Amino acid sequence: MRAGLGLEVQMTNSNESIFASALTRVRAAAEQAQLSAQIIDMLSWPQRQVEVAVPIRMDTGGIRVFRGFRIQHNNVRGPFKGGIRFHPDLNADEVKALALWMTIKCAAVDIPYGGAKGGVAVDPRLLSRTELQRLSRSYIRALALSIGPEIDIPAPDVNTNAQIMGWMFDEYSQFRGYPVPGAFTGKPPGIGGLTGREAATGRGGLTILDRIRQRLDREPGDLRVAVQGFGNVGYHFARLAHSAGYRIVGLSDSRGGIRVAGNAVLDPDVVIARKRDKGLIDGLYCKGSVCDVNSYHAISNAELLTTECDVLVPAAMENQITVDNAEQIRAQVVLELANGPVTPAADRILQRRGITVVPDVLANAGGVTGSYFEWLQNIQWLTWDESRVLAELDKILDRAYEAVEAVARRFNTSLREGAYILALDRLAAAMQGRGWISNKPGSEHSLR
Ligand code: NAD
Repeated sequence: MRAGLGLEVQMTNSNESIFASALTRVRAAAEQAQLSAQIIDMLSWPQRQVEVAVPIRMDTGGIRVFRGFRIQHNNVRGPFKGGIRFHPDLNADEVKALALWMTIKCAAVDIPYGGAKGGVAVDPRLLSRTELQRLSRSYIRALALSIGPEIDIPAPDVNTNAQIMGWMFDEYSQFRGYPVPGAFTGKPPGIGGLTGREAATGRGGLTILDRIRQRLDREPGDLRVAVQGFGNVGYHFARLAHSAGYRIVGLSDSRGGIRVAGNAVLDPDVVIARKRDKGLIDGLYCKGSVCDVNSYHAISNAELLTTECDVLVPAAMENQITVDNAEQIRAQVVLELANGPVTPAADRILQRRGITVVPDVLANAGGVTGSYFEWLQNIQWLTWDESRVLAELDKILDRAYEAVEAVARRFNTSLREGAYILALDRLAAAMQGRGWISNKPGSEHSLR
C-alpha cells in the first residue's frame, strides 16, 4: 500500500449539485417541446441507487473499506448501461448526473439501453496492482445481484480500463458459475472485447466533428484543435483527428498542458510515446504527463481551455467550462467528449457568443455505441470483423447527428436542446408504451 488513500468524499469542483443542474436541462427541453410533466417526474429520481462498502485486504495485511456506488437511472428503453469510474472525489450526486446523461444519450442516439453509472471513491494510483484487482473484484461481489447482461452492463470510464473490466467479468462469471461476457463491455479483445472499443469514443467524436466541419464548409487542415484530457478518449480522438488532417495545436492532462506556436502541429503518437517512456504504475497507469514533452511550449490546464483554436475538445472531467472562463474561450466549436464539461450557465454564454457546442450526449456517444456492438456479439457468441464495427459505428452516429440537427432546426434550438428533445420524446414514447405515464390528450409527446 502507498500512503495517503483519499477517502474523503466531496462535491466535484463546487457545492452545487451536478444532478440538479443536469435536471434543469431536462426540464428546459421538456418545456420547450411541450412534453408531459410526467416525463420530468420519472427522470427526477433514479430507479435504483445502490451504495456499497468495498472492503479489500491491503498488501500490508490490513483491511481498508472504500465507498462504492451503482446508480441505475432509467431502463424504460432497455437494460441499464454506463461506465465505472475510480476517482477520489466520486460521490453519489456526480454518479447520479452521469447516470441521467447515459439515459439521455442512449435515447438520443437510439440505442436500446437505459442509463446507469457507478464507481468507487478511490485514487487507484495509490493502490498496488494486486490491491486494485482485489478492489475491482470486491466491488463486483457487492453488486453481483444488481448487474448482468439483461439487467445492467458496466463499462470503463475515468481511471478504469480493459484489464479492470477483465477482472470484473471474471469475478461476475465466478459468482454465476459460467462465463458471462455480455455482463461487461470494454473487455480485452481475447475475452470477448470488441476490437476498436478503446478508440470508439474518440472515433465517434471525429465522425461528429466531420459533420460539423462539412456544415462550416472547411477542410480538416483549416481547423486547429486543442484537447483537454489525454486518456482513453482524448488520446484516441487526437490521434485519429491528426491522421485525418486536423491540426492538433494543444493537449493537456491532469498535470498540465502543451501548445505549439505558429503553424506547427502536435503529433499525439509522439506525445504518448514520450509519456509512456516514463513507465507505468504497476503496468496500468502512466507515470508521465503530456507536459514531460519539453520540445513544446508548456501551458497550464486553464490556459489550454482558453488557448486560441477553432475546435476545443474537453475530454477529461465535468464542470471545466464555467462562468469563470466561458467569456475567454477562443474556439468556434466546443466538442464535448467528456461528460458534462460545460455548466448550464457557461453554455448560455457560449451560445450568446455564437460558439457551437456539440453536446456530450451526441459527441461522445461512440463509446456506448461500441459497447452496444460488443454486447450484441457477446450475447450471441459471435464476432464481427473490424470493418463491420467501423461501418456500423459511422452509420449510427451519422443517423444520430442528422436526427439531432433536424430537431434543433425544427425547434430553433441549440444542438444540445435538440438532442434532449429527441431523447425525451423517445423516452416518453417508451414510457407511454409500457404504461408508466399516461397517454391522455395533453400528455403526448410532440415529435410524432
Ligand atoms: P481516462 O481516465 O482514460 O482519462 C482521463 C484524462 O483526463 C487523463 O489524461 C487525465 O490526466 C485527464 N484529466 C483528469 N482531470 C483533469 C483536469 N482537471 N484537467 C485536465 N485533464 C484532466 O478517462 P476517459 O475514459 O478518457 O474519460 C474522459 C471523459 O470522457 C470522462 O468525462 C468520461 O466520462 C467520458 N467518456 C468516456 C468514455 C469511454 O469510453 N471511456 C465514453 C464516453 C464518455
